[in-house]
Amino acid sequence: MRHIAIVGSGPAGYYTAEAAQKEFGDDVRVDVFDKLPVPYGLIRTGVAPDHQSIKGVSRRYEKTALTDNVRFVGNVAIGEDISVERLQMLYDAVVIATGAPQDRELSIPGEDLRNTFGSAAFVGWYNGHPQFADLDPDLSGSTAVVIGMGNVALDVARMLSKKAAEFDGSDIVGHALDALDASNIERIILLGRRGPHQIMMTPKELGELGWLDHAAPHVDKADLPDEAEDAILEPGLRKSVALLREFAATPEHIRGEKRIAVEFAFFAQPTALIGDGAVEAVEIERTKLERGRAVGTGDTERVPADLVISCIGYRTAPIPGVPFDERAGRFANDDGRILPGLYCVGWARRGPSGTIGTNKPDGFGIVEKIAADFADGTIRQQGREGREGFDAYAAEHGLDIVTFRDWKKIEEAEAQAAREGAPREKFVDIEAMIKALN
Ligand code: NAP
Repeated sequence: MRHIAIVGSGPAGYYTAEAAQKEFGDDVRVDVFDKLPVPYGLIRTGVAPDHQSIKGVSRRYEKTALTDNVRFVGNVAIGEDISVERLQMLYDAVVIATGAPQDRELSIPGEDLRNTFGSAAFVGWYNGHPQFADLDPDLSGSTAVVIGMGNVALDVARMLSKKAAEFDGSDIVGHALDALDASNIERIILLGRRGPHQIMMTPKELGELGWLDHAAPHVDKADLPDEAEDAILEPGLRKSVALLREFAATPEHIRGEKRIAVEFAFFAQPTALIGDGAVEAVEIERTKLERGRAVGTGDTERVPADLVISCIGYRTAPIPGVPFDERAGRFANDDGRILPGLYCVGWARRGPSGTIGTNKPDGFGIVEKIAADFADGTIRQQGREGREGFDAYAAEHGLDIVTFRDWKKIEEAEAQAAREGAPREKFVDIEAMIKALN
């Protein structure tokens, strides 16, 4: 019997579990650990609450979770409740699939001013992540600055633009729904350090900005390169740029009908956050492109800001005993291999890029490597105890494990507490989740 531990129950973790089951059949036992009592990682706490169709992929993970040789082990923090070293003594292969839950820092002055947040924190807040449920952003000001031109910046700008009725059918948590509905924000400035041809926004997500009830996108025609230059772009980006052109062509009197403006500010590198206690402005330096890179021109100006959310990417959280690449912000690995018997997959392997679906080939790929390492003796099967050994450890150390069956009870309680039309009202603290089990 092969024993595999997967650390993290998000997409990368469950695709790996699915692949292990397909590769090894009845000859494998897989334990999928999560430090939260609830599974699915970013599907629950990252994907925007108004993107329910994307969240539907969790049904596939549930199918894997319900098979006999895969088990969910929630409420166990690897590196705190049990070390990776100990886990390696119990399992033949340990795969780290913990994603990239920490915000990359801007590393500019003023980053610690009140009402400035990274996207991990802000997205965690509106998605009810227990770590960020108490964030309590102040939405009473008129202007929000969102730094970055990726899909997370789009999610954040869209959330800030919506009022209650536009969240119908979503699973936004009650505290965020109330706060966003009462928000006074009417100007959302998206800051990009490069230009329209360098945005990281995908067309479907960018297009949604054009269909909001109370907000309209504003793009300045003068910022757009000559249309002929779009021909060299790869097709997805070309579509996104075409949308920017559409937004720019919308007459002022039409976009002015919407109370909230989402403004695209290109060639603007934030250099400092300014304020006295709370943030009041972002100092930016104008940039120009040199061989694709943003280079400062020395021209600076101030953009007003009552709220700042930096959406510039994420880092993996280090785990004691696991080699870490500080510069890249992820585990040090050679195509998923960290050390013999220790692997990483998903964002913990490659950094925060790609869609949910990118994790599928990633998960299947790492299992191929594990199979090869079993075959050539890199992984020596030494009668490790697997889940029985872990259960003994858990009993000895008083760990309060949450099983998949327990999760189903939490899920049911969340469904029962849902607002009309919503799929669930999430518990936002761990104690409440555990309480729902009794
Ligand atoms: P991203 O796509 O890498 O975008 C990050 C943005 O931040 C870029 O515009 C980048 O500009 C900018 N940036 C980075 N460092 C900066 C700095 N120091 N100062 C100013 N700007 C800076 O990352 P993301 O938006 O966090 O998304 C992560 C991944 O999740 C992506 O693969 C994304 O597609 C995916 N995602 C998908 C969806 C969806 O499909 N619905 C939703 C959310 C996220 P440069 O390009 O100049 O570096």
